[in-house]
Amino acid sequence: MSHVLTAGRPAPRADAASPARRVRAQRGQVTTTFGFLHRWSVAATLVLIGVFVLGATAVRFAPPGSSVAVWWPAAGLGVAFLLATGPDRRRALIVVAGVVVFSGAANLYGGRPPFTAACFGVANATEALVVWWLMTRGGRRPRLASLEDLGRLLVATLAGAVVFGVLAGLTVAFTLHGTFVPTAYTVAASHAAAVLTIAPLGVAVSTRRSERRRLEDLFQWLGLLAVAVWVFWSTNGLPLAFLPLPLLVWGATRQSLRTLAVQLSGLGVLVVVLTSDGGGPFAAAGRSGAVEPETVGALTQAFLVTAAVTGLALAVASTQRRDALAELFREAAFTQTVLNSAPATAIIGTDSSGTITLFNRGATNLLGFPPEDVVGSMNWVELHDPAEVACRAEELGLDPGPAVLVHVLEDAERTETRDWTWVTRDGRHMVVDLTTSAIVDEAGAVTGYIGVAEDVTERRVAADAVQAALDRERRAVEELTALDRAKTDFLSSVSHELRTPLASVLGYTEMLEDGAAGELSQKQLDLVSRIDRNGRRLLALIEDLLLNSRIESGQLHLARRPCDLAEIVDHAWESTGALVQKRELHLRREVSGEPVPLDGDATALERVVTNLLSNAVKFTPDGGVVTLALGRTEDGNGAGMARLVVSDSGYGISEEDQHQVFRRFFRSSDATDRAVQGTGLGLSIVQAIVEGHDGTIDVESTLGEGSTFTVLLPLATVAAPRSGTG
Ligand code: ADP
Repeated sequence: MSHVLTAGRPAPRADAASPARRVRAQRGQVTTTFGFLHRWSVAATLVLIGVFVLGATAVRFAPPGSSVAVWWPAAGLGVAFLLATGPDRRRALIVVAGVVVFSGAANLYGGRPPFTAACFGVANATEALVVWWLMTRGGRRPRLASLEDLGRLLVATLAGAVVFGVLAGLTVAFTLHGTFVPTAYTVAASHAAAVLTIAPLGVAVSTRRSERRRLEDLFQWLGLLAVAVWVFWSTNGLPLAFLPLPLLVWGATRQSLRTLAVQLSGLGVLVVVLTSDGGGPFAAAGRSGAVEPETVGALTQAFLVTAAVTGLALAVASTQRRDALAELFREAAFTQTVLNSAPATAIIGTDSSGTITLFNRGATNLLGFPPEDVVGSMNWVELHDPAEVACRAEELGLDPGPAVLVHVLEDAERTETRDWTWVTRDGRHMVVDLTTSAIVDEAGAVTGYIGVAEDVTERRVAADAVQAALDRERRAVEELTALDRAKTDFLSSVSHELRTPLASVLGYTEMLEDGAAGELSQKQLDLVSRIDRNGRRLLALIEDLLLNSRIESGQLHLARRPCDLAEIVDHAWESTGALVQKRELHLRREVSGEPVPLDGDATALERVVTNLLSNAVKFTPDGGVVTLALGRTEDGNGAGMARLVVSDSGYGISEEDQHQVFRRFFRSSDATDRAVQGTGLGLSIVQAIVEGHDGTIDVESTLGEGSTFTVLLPLATVAAPRSGTG
C-alpha cells in the first residue's frame, strides 16, 4: 500500500483509497514523510526497530546517576508513524502494542530492571496513544494545513508529554525509589521536545513551496547545519543558542513544510548529541556551574521546543499564504477566461465615478478600442452617443455625465437593462442592449458598476421593420373592414330599394295573370309567367341579401317558440316538388312520423330544410338520389337532439372546398363551371340559423359520389320525470 497520504477528508483505511484519490495523491501536494515506504507492514517493522535502537541509545546516553534519559527521540518516531497511519484504529493498536514491546526492550537492553522496563514501555505507548487519539478525533487524518492544526498538535503533544511524565514519575518513584516531581517534569519536557520536533514528519503537510531556487535551498541547508554544529560543538561558552533560529525561519518561509519537519528533527538529534557530548552553550553553562547539571537537559528541551514552535508556526502560515495566493491566481485566471469567452458580449467594469477598470475582449470586438487605451483613462460615458446622453439627462433633470447612465441604480434593485447607442472607435453608431449593475460593498456603498452589452442594431432594425409591416397590415384590415361595412350597408339599402318596386312588379303580373287587363292569349300568359318566375327569383335573392346583412350586423332575430320539426320538414318537402318537376331524380324520405318538438323559429327552420334540399337537387344530375331523414339522437352529454340529414348522390364537394362552403358568397368552381344557379349565400344563412338555435351543421362529401349535410338541434326541454328517492 501507499503511504502517500492526502489531507482533507479522512479515509477510513489508507489502502482503501479509490484509484482517483490515489492518482490525485500522487500528483498531490499534501503527503507525509513516510510516503516513500510503500508497504505499511515493512514501514511499521522498520519504525519499531528504530524505536528500539533510539531508545537503547538514549538510555545508554542518560546522564550518569540519572534514572531517565535526557531526550527520547523514540517517542517522536513512534508518534510520527502513528500519525502517518491515520485514523485506522486496528493499525494504530498494532503500533501501540509494538511501542510497548520495543521501548520496553530498549529499556531492558539499557540495563533497567524488567518490571521498570515494562512500565516505561507502557508509559511510552500510552503517550503515543494519547497524541494519536487527540490528533485523529472525529475520524480526521492528522495534518498541518493551518495554524489551528498546529495548535492541535501542540495541545496533543503537551497532553501526551504530561501523561508520560506522570507515568514515568510513578514508575521511577515506585520501582527505582527515585523522586516523582523532578522526574515527571524532566521527562515531560524531553518527550514534548522529541514529539514536537519529530512528529510533523508523520503529519500530512503541504509540499507546496515558493518557486524552487536550488542554490538558495543549498545555502539554507548548509547554513543551518554549519551554524548548529558550530554553536553546539564549540566549547567557548558563548550564549549563541539563538543563532540557528534565523536560518530555521529562512527555511520555514522558503522551503516546504516537509523539508522544515526534516530539518527540525535533524536539529533535535544534533543538538542533543552535541550537548550531551559537552558542546554548546547549555553544556558550557552546566560546566561553569551557572546552572545545575539537571537543568542543562531542560534548557536543551526548551530550546528545541522553541525552535519547533517558531519554525512550524511560520512554515504553516507561509504555506497557508502560498495556498491562498495560488487559489487567488486560479480564480483570477478563471474569471479572465469567463470574461473573454463571450467574444460578442461587451463586459465593462468601472469604478464609482465611471472610469473604466475592466474591458473584456468582447468590448474590444464591439467597440474597437484595445483595453490599454481605455482602462484607467476613459469614462464609460464617453462610449455613449453624446446626443442621447444629453437627451436622457434632460429627461432625468441631470447634467450630462456618467450619473445619467446609473441614475436609476441608486434606489432600485441596482440593475437596469435598456437600449443605448454607443459610438465605436471609428465613429460608427451601434444600438446595444446594456444591463448595468451596481457593485456594492458590505456596508451597502456603491464601489463601481458593471455593464454587460450586446450589439442589437440589426435586431432593432428588423424589429422596427416588422412593426412597420404590422402597422401597415392593421391599417389595411381597418380599411377592408370599413369597405366591407360600406358594402353591406350598400347591399342592404339597395335590396330595400329594390324590394318595393319588385313587389309591385309581381303584384301587377299576378293581376295580368288573373285577367285584370282582359283575357290573355296563351303566348301572353307564357311571357307573363316567365316575368313572374324571374321576379320571384330576384325577390328571393333580395331576401337572402337582406337576411345576410342582418346576420352580419348581428340582428338576426329568431322568434323561437315550441314547434314540431317533423311538420316543418313536411312543408319543406312539399315545396321541393316544384323544384324537381322537370328532373328525373329519386326522392326518398325517411321520417318516423312521430313529432320532433323544438323551441324554434319555424319559418327560419323551414328555410334551412328548403335550402339543403334545393342544394341537393341542384348539385345532383338526373338519375341521382336525394334523401331526407329526420330522427332523434343524443349529444355527448346525453341531451336529446333532433337529427336532420339531407344527402345526395350528386357531384360532391372537394375536401378543400368542404371547409369553405359555409362562407358567405362561396361557390365552388365546380358549381360555377356547371353553371348551377346560386349566390353562395344559402349555406352561410343556414349555418347562422342553425347556430342561432344552439345547433350544429356538418358536411361530409366525396367528390363524384355525393354529399351529406347533418344538422343537430336541441330538442325542446320537457320537464324530466322525478326520479324515485328509494
Ligand atoms: P349556392 O347554392 O347559392 O351556390 P350555397 O351557400 O347554398 O350557395 O352553397 C355554397 C356552395 O356549396 C355551392 O355553390 C356548392 O359549390 C356547394 N354545395 C352546397 N351544397 C352542395 C351539394 N349538396 N352538393 C355539392 N355541392 C354543394
